[in-house]
Amino acid sequence: VKTTATCPKCGSHELIRIPGSTRAFGTGNNIPAGMTIFSSVKVARFLCSHCGYSEEWVESPADIEKLRKKYGGSEGAG
Ligand SMILES: [Zn+2]
Repeated sequence: VKTTATCPKCGSHELIRIPGSTRAFGTGNNIPAGMTIFSSVKVARFLCSHCGYSEEWVESPADIEKLRKKYGGSEGAG
């Protein structure tokens, strides 16, 4: 988890954290990782208040694991 985020563009530490949400399918900031909205993972967005650069991070290790199973999974045998 990135606690001291730094803008990769300008090096500013003035990043605004915008939490992800799964309010309804297709809205909010999330990635589908299953059949229902309940299995979507939340994606937090960090916006640099200095230059306007934005970056998205999946913050939960469990959510990253869900995405790895759905979209990745080249490692190991299923
Ligand atoms: Zn910046």
